Amino acid sequence: MQGTDQPLRRDERDISNWDAECDVLIIGFGVAGASAAIEAAAAGARVVVVERAGGPGGTSALSGGLIYLGGGTPIQKACGFEDTAEDMFKYMMAACGPQPDASLIEPYCNESVEHFHWIAKQGVPFKPSFFEGAHEPFTTDDGLTYSGSEHVHPFNEIAQPAPRGHIPQQVSGKGGLLMKHLIESAQSAGIETRLNSRCDALVVASDDSVVGAVISNPDAPGGSTTLRARGGVVLAAGGFIFNREMVHHYAPALERCKYKVGTENDDGLGIRLGLAVGAEAIRMETGDISLVLFPPNKLRQGLFVNQFGQRYLNEDAYMGRCGEYTLYHQEGHAYLIVDDQIYERPEMFPVEVVAVGETVAELEGELGMPTGQLQQTLSYYNEHAARGEDPLFRKGAHYVKPLDTPPFAAMDLRAENTGYSAFTLGGLRIDAQARVQTASGEAIPGLFAAGRTTSGVPKQGYSSGMSIGDGSFFGRRAGRNAAAKS
Ligand SMILES: Cc1cc2nc3c(=O)[nH]c(=O)nc-3n(C[C@H](O)[C@H](O)[C@H](O)COP(=O)(O)OP(=O)(O)OC[C@H]3O[C@@H](n4cnc5c(N)ncnc54)[C@H](O)[C@@H]3O)c2cc1C
Repeated sequence: MQGTDQPLRRDERDISNWDAECDVLIIGFGVAGASAAIEAAAAGARVVVVERAGGPGGTSALSGGLIYLGGGTPIQKACGFEDTAEDMFKYMMAACGPQPDASLIEPYCNESVEHFHWIAKQGVPFKPSFFEGAHEPFTTDDGLTYSGSEHVHPFNEIAQPAPRGHIPQQVSGKGGLLMKHLIESAQSAGIETRLNSRCDALVVASDDSVVGAVISNPDAPGGSTTLRARGGVVLAAGGFIFNREMVHHYAPALERCKYKVGTENDDGLGIRLGLAVGAEAIRMETGDISLVLFPPNKLRQGLFVNQFGQRYLNEDAYMGRCGEYTLYHQEGHAYLIVDDQIYERPEMFPVEVVAVGETVAELEGELGMPTGQLQQTLSYYNEHAARGEDPLFRKGAHYVKPLDTPPFAAMDLRAENTGYSAFTLGGLRIDAQARVQTASGEAIPGLFAAGRTTSGVPKQGYSSGMSIGDGSFFGRRAGRNAAAKS
């Protein structure tokens, strides 16, 4: 695998000398690492954070900064939305599957309001205003939005919908703002930061507990140092979308996505360090796959059809669900069918028109679909849409109208031609205390993890904000628990 050629696991008996000691050693200074550092320092631990880049922030600092929080946060209340931990739990259990992990989702929902207050306490500002547009307020500083599929079929029938995407108050650079406050908070708590310092190996004692790490640093004598961690090591080193071999091996569907979301340091080294000391990695095939067609929202009046001309999803679903359904379930071969009245160019990424017809039959022929299928799809849809209904996929009534104004067109959603974007969701298995687990379900003593180095709350069915959400939430637990051991 791409990365370091050295062994990722070292035995303590082979370490002749520890160059330095601390209570908690944190690998990576993104959202998960910063949250771990703040909590470990607050618990009185001596904390060292090593970061291989020249500055802190990681992918988190480049992100949209959305944090998935609910259960009745002050921002939800100020914007007039009611929410409960129970409804949040029901949504996440329905959306973050298959086989969502209740043991992680339950505390995440139950303590979400407390987590909001903790983030706000670090200085992160949230404006109590609601953004009604298509999922992400790219051009406003609003503080709350629907960032998943809570308010659309089938989830609006499973749980009372509420918007849970909480956004730091800034028009652009929202992730940078979030990280600025978390980094400042960690640094003012007295942690030590070592930049340009990459963790290349974990050091394991004879009882299999993790007791430290080997850190490479071009400025260190001999190029590397050994750091002993009395309480434990927290792996918070991001995901693996930029490791071609790992993506090919574990998550080949993601290879087809044009845009890789992250930094080059998302090379899976944190996951491989965990594997080297006996951890289990799970859901390695999963990822957030976004198909960014909207805005304009008007296009949601169109119809997603697969290569055979059949519908497969309500078009008002969250962009991650659209991407996931199209790539995983339709082999990345689909189209958005529009008529002359609703066609507009997507604002974010180019999506080309691949076929046009004065009649649906002509369009169907151009696309090489089985004769009659697309015609039947449109005629069935239009018959019900005339009454504002969508019995098949229950798209929201405001997006339901007959498609009957020629010419008709097919917008190309094939993975190779369109801007799917992806980052990985699979990683080390942790328990609710952020302890890294072996395949037999035992915690590896001294090893904790959070963020995209782990398989966290979104096992699939991602909604925006869940990555920063679970990274910060379980990062805090990792920091606290490692500190408690020191
Ligand atoms: C454009 C964009 C928009 C996004 N928008 C959102 C959003 O709005 N909401 C959301 O929830 N998610 C969003 N995401 C995804 C989200 O940003 C990431 O999944 C999340 O921030 C990962 O956090 P992390 O702490 O696990 O990793 P990171 O923030 O990447 O931090 C990991 C750090 O570890 C360092 N590192 C790696 N290996 C080592 C090593 N061996 N030794 C030392 N250091 C190491 C890395 O350099 C990095 O700084 C977005 C991503 C992008 C790129």
